Amino acid sequence: MRVLLVEDEDRIASFITKGLRAEGHAVDTAKTVAEAHALIGNQQYDVVLLDLRLPDGHGVSVLRAIRARDPESPVIVLSALGSTDDKVSLLDEGADDYLVKPFEFAELSARIRAATRHGQRSARVLEVGDLRLDTKTRVATRGGVSIELPSREFALLEYLMRHAGQVLTRQQIIDAVWGFGFESASNVVDVYVGYLRRKLDRPGEASVIETVRGAGYRVRA
Ligand code: CA
Repeated sequence: MRVLLVEDEDRIASFITKGLRAEGHAVDTAKTVAEAHALIGNQQYDVVLLDLRLPDGHGVSVLRAIRARDPESPVIVLSALGSTDDKVSLLDEGADDYLVKPFEFAELSARIRAATRHGQRSARVLEVGDLRLDTKTRVATRGGVSIELPSREFALLEYLMRHAGQVLTRQQIIDAVWGFGFESASNVVDVYVGYLRRKLDRPGEASVIETVRGAGYRVRA
């Protein structure tokens, strides 16, 4: 995903940017209200992380500008201000979520997943190149040819395609496809990726599912 981070504190900005890049996201950063306005004028973001106290003004003006352009685009407010009033008024202004500093990166990451699960994340038909997945009829096709997938393989492919372009760790995949608390010291994800590759890939072409060394797997967007 493409993420805009609006944050003037270098230490916090670099902590968040590092974490997001490690998860495979593209990150643009703005340190001021003016920079944020310039970026959102030029680029669509899948999610915006917005600090409120900025050197040249209040982050709420950025939130209003985003809402004016795109009512759906997820915005998560990051703030040291923790009062209920602030929180309610920002949610009224259209923020999707509100995270009080300091927070753990894992918490932010979970909130981003929740905020972006709607919209394209809930599409019924997923398409990547000539690979097509109808999540309602449970039919997978590649180049128009249908491919039989048992339910677990279908669920794995659906999860990878819903996050196309994003590197997913084996743990994220296990949590999403096998469920939280699934006990596995084994290589279950690798085995199932192998099953999918045998059915989806064409000889002489790069695999639909890319192995990202030391990180996990990714379906190319
Ligand atoms: Ca600030």
